[in-house]
Amino acid sequence: MNERARPVKALHQVRLNRILDADIRLDAKISALWEAVDEMGAIAAPHSACRRGCSHCCHIPVLVPKQEAALIGRRIGVKPAKVIGVTRLEEMRAGYDNPCPFLKGGACSIYDSRPLACRQQFNMDSDALLCELVDDDAPPKVPYLNMMDYTTVLAMMTAQSKEVRMLNPHTGRISTAIEYSSPAVGDIREFFPRGRS
Ligand code: SF4
Ligand code: SF4
Repeated sequence: MNERARPVKALHQVRLNRILDADIRLDAKISALWEAVDEMGAIAAPHSACRRGCSHCCHIPVLVPKQEAALIGRRIGVKPAKVIGVTRLEEMRAGYDNPCPFLKGGACSIYDSRPLACRQQFNMDSDALLCELVDDDAPPKVPYLNMMDYTTVLAMMTAQSKEVRMLNPHTGRISTAIEYSSPAVGDIREFFPRGRS
């Protein structure tokens, strides 16, 4: 499947590079990224174990940058909570006793507005067995479709940039450069602790 996905990814790369450089709102850029990932999803879905009603992955940490949380919030009419810095994986409380607050009746209640973290996850196994959460520290070896290109695009879209001035100690000259840093990134449970309510 990764081989089959390669030409589609190449087309998406060209399209998303244009969108990255375009003078449009960040919301529109993230929406265009979601659209590309959904196109890939349509290709992967028939070969994937993922099905409606299968929700082990709604019980694991779901990382969302604050700008994407803001877009989700606007689409569903809920203001996301403020998250400062980057929440570390070990700080996230997830598990069968702490599902994503948007999981309702075994299905995603914000399906059209779910974050990239959920859209890009395709288990290419024949069933969901490896997605089941087990009580051990070893990370599950789920054969996910490689969607790294898309997560990188989201990181590039949401990276914070600022102009910094630097003094060259050898020449005494001051030059300017653009410095990038990560936005606030948190678990979906932190941004939307009460789901849609
Ligand atoms: S990623 Fe795993 S748990 Fe989630 S829908 Fe696919 S098979 Fe089910
Ligand atoms: S947003 Fe939807 S798909 Fe994603 S973890 Fe929550 S319930 Fe599951």
